[in-house]
Amino acid sequence: MKILVINSGSSSLKFQVIDSGTEQVLARGVCERIGIDGIFTYKTDRGIAIKEPVPMENHKQAVNTILSTLSDKEKGVIQDFGEIDVIGHRLVHGGEKFTGSVVITDEVIQAMTECNDLAPLHNPANLVGVDACRELMPDTLMVGVFDTAFNQTMEPKAFLYGLPYQYYEKYKIRRYGFHGISHKYVSTRAAEFLDQDPRRVKTIVCHLGNGASICAVKYGKVIDNSMGFTPLEGLVMGTRCGDVDPGALEFLAKKENLDFQQVMTILNQESGVLGISKNYSSDFRELKDAEIKYNERAALAREIFAYKVAKYVGSYAAAMNGVDNIVFTAGVGENDSDIREEICGYLEFLGITIDEVKNREQKEAVKISDWSSKVNVLVIKTNEELEIAREAAAVAAQLGVTT
Ligand code: ADP
Repeated sequence: MKILVINSGSSSLKFQVIDSGTEQVLARGVCERIGIDGIFTYKTDRGIAIKEPVPMENHKQAVNTILSTLSDKEKGVIQDFGEIDVIGHRLVHGGEKFTGSVVITDEVIQAMTECNDLAPLHNPANLVGVDACRELMPDTLMVGVFDTAFNQTMEPKAFLYGLPYQYYEKYKIRRYGFHGISHKYVSTRAAEFLDQDPRRVKTIVCHLGNGASICAVKYGKVIDNSMGFTPLEGLVMGTRCGDVDPGALEFLAKKENLDFQQVMTILNQESGVLGISKNYSSDFRELKDAEIKYNERAALAREIFAYKVAKYVGSYAAAMNGVDNIVFTAGVGENDSDIREEICGYLEFLGITIDEVKNREQKEAVKISDWSSKVNVLVIKTNEELEIAREAAAVAAQLGVTT
């Protein structure tokens, strides 16, 4: 089955064409600066690579560019649109309504629109991509894969805040958790790599990218996730603050005479390692270079980040009454061996010992704990697009679509 995976943002649209049988990526690319000027990047498994300006006033024109390139005689990987069996859409917030992937229908779009105020930055942008695809390929099966769905197995003790219960009842204010597509892919891949039954192991996934979250997966189900009502909660991130006492925010707003919106901008865009390093950088590579040159703020930012990750891992080991696998993934988790070593240093009490040579290997999947470690520690490259393709193929197969 050929699956077109779409990840639509407000001004960009990423795509991949994946053969679900071989799990091979036939083509991938991104439309950027949609509604501004338009840049189209495209690569195929046969070595074709394009990066060129293409005017794209809206998402429909972006999808049109993708489809015509994919079916182009010279550059394409399909002969016509009909060869795309399913389109899998990455959708950020499914609220409590969506606990798994679904066929996108008018009713699903209506229900998602009702979730828009839960994710005002992401959901409307996702839906614009869905609309564009539905207009251009009205007969193609569309499957929605939610970033929140995998986390929906959390129990009330994990997802409720200590707020008056009526606000959960009235407005569904609760913890949802994000990065679910990545956490599902990585926890499953870890079990496969270690030849384990995922329904019998306790895994903690550390998705450490610009946005970062930790997820506790017990016997294949999420029991906790460090992100909350929004992706702001939890770890200190690239530019997001993570956990902060709300009382400090009221204090700050009064002192600096800020309104809510201004405070939120600080928390989302000016905080995290960027804020701690006094605007030096949100990029962990640059912070590491600065740390080597004795930049104390950069060193402190990395130290706080690692400490916070270790605290969450420790608390999730307690929440699951043990842990079999700890997995690092995403930009920082996959590439920053020093941060991994620092985090694992805090976790010696769990019986974790790291093989320093393995920790520096760069592979799709590698076990970095040594033979004596009581917990398997791994580094696995996340692959959200493949997970979306798998979900889309599974939904299609349930409907009897086979190719
Ligand atoms: P997101 O998808 O949340 O934007 P990514 O998972 O792509 O984030 O991660 C981006 C982050 O990964 C960047 O902030 C960068 O600091 C970090 N990163 C990428 N490569 C390296 C590396 N070799 N060493 C340290 N950090 C890295």
